[in-house]
Amino acid sequence: MSTTIMAIAAHPGDAVFTMGAAVAQHIHNGGKGVFLALTAGEKGSPASIPVNRYGELQREASEKAAKLLGAEFEILTYPDAEIPLHDRAAQAVSDVIRQHRADVVVTHWSGSWHKDHQNCHLLVRDAIFYAGLATMNRKQPPHSVRKLFFADNWEDADNFKPDTYLDITAVFEKWMQACDAYPMWRGLTGFRYNDYYSSLAVMRGCLSGFRHAAALMSNPAEHLSRVSALL
Ligand SMILES: [Zn+2]
Repeated sequence: MSTTIMAIAAHPGDAVFTMGAAVAQHIHNGGKGVFLALTAGEKGSPASIPVNRYGELQREASEKAAKLLGAEFEILTYPDAEIPLHDRAAQAVSDVIRQHRADVVVTHWSGSWHKDHQNCHLLVRDAIFYAGLATMNRKQPPHSVRKLFFADNWEDADNFKPDTYLDITAVFEKWMQACDAYPMWRGLTGFRYNDYYSSLAVMRGCLSGFRHAAALMSNPAEHLSRVSALL
């Protein structure tokens, strides 16, 4: 049976640059892929592009990237830099998880300097709980996410300790093309995302014995083993 991976990020760039390779690989392996960004990231606009126009460009880029990868892309309407941390937002994310019946979720690690990223991390934690809670009465039936991973993001690096290396060699080029849909990819807003994330995939590949790899951190809460013998 086909399984679904959902990448849930604060901003569309985070979704595709830091989680997109895992989504592309899941689709390549026969699964489904969904991106969810909580905001369009419009306030990251460079001085040359008005904020509203930049929001439109981010949405267009997201559609193009998703099409290239064979994924779906949803963007919630929270204003950039103002993703709220409250139950209504967690319910909104939970509704999208229920709607797509996500089996695997990838999101931000908590060790971020960016408040939108921190809030996204916390919202996803609560959204997964709400999605599986049968007594929480929502339009869609309850759904339990089976695995949660955190993505390798230059802005979320505090105490990020990867323990899972995913071979993304087969999808590397296609993923690079998807990233290139975004105006910011090639350094327009100051950071050289293209150089950083393409090199990171090579570096993570060196460490794991693959040509290209995505490093992920599994959820510490899932590390508990229940055994009746140690060997
Ligand atoms: Zn971001």
